[in-house]
Amino acid sequence: MSGGQLRSPRHPGSIHRTANDVDATPHLVMGAALTMRVRKPLLAVGIGMLSHVVLDMIPHYHLAWIMGARGFALVDLALGICLTLVVVALAPVPWGSLMGAFGGALPALERVIAGQRYDFLERPPFGLPHLEAEPPWGVATEIAATVTALALAVRQRKYRRT
Ligand SMILES: [Zn+2]
Repeated sequence: MSGGQLRSPRHPGSIHRTANDVDATPHLVMGAALTMRVRKPLLAVGIGMLSHVVLDMIPHYHLAWIMGARGFALVDLALGICLTLVVVALAPVPWGSLMGAFGGALPALERVIAGQRYDFLERPPFGLPHLEAEPPWGVATEIAATVTALALAVRQRKYRRT
């Protein structure tokens, strides 16, 4: 099935997903937070991708699934990038953290570039799950994941002399 169609989340039996909407903020920030001390770039990318898979197993909701919410998709992306830069700035190994964020976003990036509704880890042969939940809980888990990642980042921040 080709992606790209915009369907109403409220339409019975519809699949929320389109080719272009992502939930950038939790994936970017979690990828960055988990790899703040990782010195091997490829390992950081791998950890980021793994965190993407784990987050997708937690039922969640993409704000862009609200019909016509292109603005939300941009807000999500901008917020994700801003918070990621904060995490990278706090990281003892900023480069590792940046690569982790890249790994966290990689499956979604692949999906958007390929114009697919599901990313390569969700398509055969892997067929990994992407679990969804309606608001408010689906949005609450997105926020919880982001806050958890930020808390992790604060805990792991590099030592600062005062
Ligand atoms: Zn998702």
